[in-house]
This record gives sequence, structure tokens and C-alpha cells, in this order.
Amino acid sequence: MAIVNNNLVAKIERLKKQKNAIILAHYYTLNDVQDIADVVGDSLALAQEAEHLQADIVVMCGVRFMAETVKILAPNTKVLLPDWQAGCSLAESCQLADFEQFKQQHPDHIVVSYVNTTADIKSLTDICCTSSNALAIVNSLPKDAKIIFAPDKNLGNYINAQTGRNMLLWDGACHVHEQFSVESIVELKQQYPQAKVLAHPECKKQVLLLADKIGSTAALLAYTQQSPSTQFLIATEAGILHQMQKLSPQKQFIPVPPVDSTCGCTDCNYMKLNTLQKIADVLEHETNEILMDENLRQQAQKSIVRMLKISNNNGNLLNKK
Ligand code: SF4
Repeated sequence: MAIVNNNLVAKIERLKKQKNAIILAHYYTLNDVQDIADVVGDSLALAQEAEHLQADIVVMCGVRFMAETVKILAPNTKVLLPDWQAGCSLAESCQLADFEQFKQQHPDHIVVSYVNTTADIKSLTDICCTSSNALAIVNSLPKDAKIIFAPDKNLGNYINAQTGRNMLLWDGACHVHEQFSVESIVELKQQYPQAKVLAHPECKKQVLLLADKIGSTAALLAYTQQSPSTQFLIATEAGILHQMQKLSPQKQFIPVPPVDSTCGCTDCNYMKLNTLQKIADVLEHETNEILMDENLRQQAQKSIVRMLKISNNNGNLLNKK
């Protein structure tokens, strides 16, 4: 297996050089994918990277909305998605026709959408946000603004609680973050009484209430590095444990199990579709290219650019090689 992987890594490196390509990877991808990526980050960091791309080809190891975001921000770059089936249950919970109708019912509302949406939804959005910058984005709007927030109701509820707003929430959720077991956190806390509980704001309120730190993947990663604690219970997709362990090898990271899932784990099955073999294949044949209607791209771009203007003042959370 190691020889196969070494050969694939060598092939990917050769193709990258030949084609002036780079690989972007989300924290939730497989460990060996994260290890060969030029940039590993959360949605915000990857979008910030896309703004400044010098490459001719980008292989986006993540899910489709992330590859679309790169295309929206870097229209002259060829963007490839290693597996065409890499969708997102959260993005899919917000379909264009339904959302158009919802928006029409509330014409005086500003639309804030989480970046986990299709390009179609972004084109109907006034300003995007990620879990890294959601509070700053919502706080940048007038106090009395009427706001629709889509598609994640858990993140929306969290922002409402933190900002005192009363945003109208779309009823969507991520199948991974909805699954964390409150009972398991309580049991694990008995086993590891010193451990800090870290949770992503896409988790349900019951989980967030038990958390010592709530934040985006990048914020949770930074917390594990800065905290004097040595044990952490992690309630977000388990791929992030790879970077946590790499950056703090002496500390212990325990994934919070789900209430119920077929794998008994908290993996995002979409993110895990990205493999070294598929990266090598799409790079070699330049397949699975993201194509987008130019009008749609320009419409969607506005909401992301507005977000980046606010976020770029807050620093860039990247793990670059
Ligand atoms: S973890 Fe959830 S929100 Fe993230 S890509 Fe997977 S399904 Fe979508």
C-alpha cells in the first residue's frame, strides 16, 4: 500500500509541475490527501486562497460547493473536483426553487448565506459567510436589519444567540454535525475530566451547551495549539484530528461519537471521496471540470466578494507548505 501511495504521490507531483497545478484541501479530507495538498484550510481560508491564485489548474479536494467557490473567484482557472459525487447534505437542503419562493415571501430581508450553498443560492444572496466569520458578517449589518439566514439552522441559532438578532432561519442542517451524541460527551467527560470539549457551531444546541470552545475548524485547531490543556473531545468532522495531532503531537484528541451512523464514526462521506488515485486521474486527464454560466458566476461572486472584504481584515487562517 505504501509503495502504491508513494507512486501516486510522485505522479501527482510530476503532473502538478507539468501543468502548473495546485491542490487545495479541506481539513475534513483523508489524511494522505491533506498531506499532499499545497494548502489545507477551512472554507474561508480556501476561498481567500482562491482570490489570489497563480495556477492554471486547481484540484479542489473538498466538496462541490467549494470547487464552485474557487471557480467563481478565479474564472480563468481550470477547477477540477476529484469525485463528481462529492456533494454536501447541507448545500442540498437548500434548493433553488424553494429558496427563491422563500426570498420572495420576505422581500425586505437581507440574505446572508453560509458558503455551504450552491452557486445558484449564492446568486440570490446579499452576503456570504463561513463559520469563521459569521459573527463578524452579521454584526456588520445594521442592528435593525431584517435578515434571512440560510441554510444551516444550527449555525443560525448560534448567531442569533450571540448577536441578539432574530434572523429568519432556513431549515437546513449538516448530517455529520447533527449526529454528535450528548450522552457520549457526558460519558467521555467522566472518563477524561480534564478534557476540553470543542464543538463546531453546526452542531445542535444541546452539544454547544456542553462546549468549552465553539468555533470553525480553523478556530478549533488554533485553540488546541494555544490551550495549556492536553486532552480534547472533538465535536466536528474527524478529519480535523489529523492536523490537530500533527501540530500538537504531545496532546490527546478524542472524537465525539455520533448518536447513530452506519460507520459509527463522524466522517463526512462526501469529503472522504477525495483519494490520491482520483486526484492523479483528474490531473492527468483534466476531467471533472467545474463549468459555470458567466452571468450566474458574476451574480454569485458579489456575495463572496462582500464577505471577503470584511474577512480579509481579520487575518488568514491557513496551513501552507
Ligand atoms: S461535513 Fe456537512 S457541511 Fe461539511 S461538506 Fe460534509 S455534509 Fe457538507
